[in-house]
Amino acid sequence: MKIFKFGGASVQDVDHIKHVARIIEQYKDEKLLIVVSAMGKTTNALEKVAEAFYEGRKDDALRLFSEIKKQHITIAKYLLVLTFNDCIARMADLFTEIEWLLHDKPVREYNYYYDQIVSIGELLSTSIVSAYLNEVKIDNAWIDVRDILRTDNHFREAIVDWEYTSKTAETLMLPLFDQHPILLTQGFIGCTSDNESTTLGREGSDFSAAIFANIFNAENLTIWKDVEGVMNADPKIFPEAVYISHLNYEEVIEMAYYGAQVIHPKTIKPLQNKNIPLHVKCFLDTALPGTVIDNQKPASLPPVIILKSNQALLSLQTHDFSFIEEEPIRRLYKIFNKKKIKPNLILTGAIGLQIVVDDIPEKIEAFGAEASETFELNVTKGFHLLTIRHYNDEALEKYLSGKRKFLVQQDQTTLQALYY
Ligand code: ASP
Ligand code: MG
Repeated sequence: MKIFKFGGASVQDVDHIKHVARIIEQYKDEKLLIVVSAMGKTTNALEKVAEAFYEGRKDDALRLFSEIKKQHITIAKYLLVLTFNDCIARMADLFTEIEWLLHDKPVREYNYYYDQIVSIGELLSTSIVSAYLNEVKIDNAWIDVRDILRTDNHFREAIVDWEYTSKTAETLMLPLFDQHPILLTQGFIGCTSDNESTTLGREGSDFSAAIFANIFNAENLTIWKDVEGVMNADPKIFPEAVYISHLNYEEVIEMAYYGAQVIHPKTIKPLQNKNIPLHVKCFLDTALPGTVIDNQKPASLPPVIILKSNQALLSLQTHDFSFIEEEPIRRLYKIFNKKKIKPNLILTGAIGLQIVVDDIPEKIEAFGAEASETFELNVTKGFHLLTIRHYNDEALEKYLSGKRKFLVQQDQTTLQALYY
């Protein structure tokens, strides 16, 4: 079995969906499980619906939702003839579910409503894509992943129940392959044991695809993207960026850790555990080789450049000038954890610490309030943090000469510099 994942950009409109079908057509004779995201920017639009609803702006919520509805119906109209009625019937059920909810008043926590509303994006996109594939005689079965992928009730960041999910995937999904070569389902969403929809965190569809790859011991997972593959830098910032044809799992985890927006970080572990290769391919030009990610060490890698702007430097010093030892460090990590702050760089001294974080004012304020018991805090803003993996003299010269460097930390592979 092969697993394919198509992201929101690849199903954003009529032409893209047609194109996706042409790609799938080439693999028609294989057992294929296809995981699809919400169309284009639907998830963002649904977030706006959830916000309006929760703030008691019911009319706004309904109006925003009706726009999303219209978009999906319009696309279905353009794409479907024979399968139109079935698709519309399925979508109508989904619309009604949300509209009922929007007519209520919120009584539970925001994240619960967020998941009930936002999860519909994937259910709608897959309804349309599945119907279109059937329309053009690419036989497939649509699966509501909420019948399979069980999670806990940490809404918006639900944790997968692997045992239940594996068992159900095997008993409910595998037999369907006797009747259909292709199964099509949603990424990003799951369901609790109480039948409440959940989501796995933004951009979580890659992770969903990796979960199924792991469970079914897939031959490989292909993530179809609108880029040629994984690059060594963001081409929007660094036009000289180049493609990397081969990477190993560890490198991708490292890249994601330092902030490269390659692949959802949770995606790698389930693949690595079963040594399943991940292909990142370009859906615009399927002839391009793309990037292969597996457990083989790559021959040589170009310097990998990750730039994070809008960085704040938190300088901490103990009130009583006591040494930075276990206890203050432990307290610090507890605050990071509680406030969901991810330090991008930490430098430890005798009585002080320097911590670089994304400049999110609410978070820094909340951090300051908690840390003030133990530390004197000084915040400086307006920095850039540049990480270079596999750095060499040429890269250092190119990216850092002439920069007003404030802090530099490096080991054999990775160099990080904070500059103005
Ligand atoms: N549709 C979701 C999002 O935009 C999940 C995904 O695309 O992976 O975050
Ligand atoms: Mg997406």
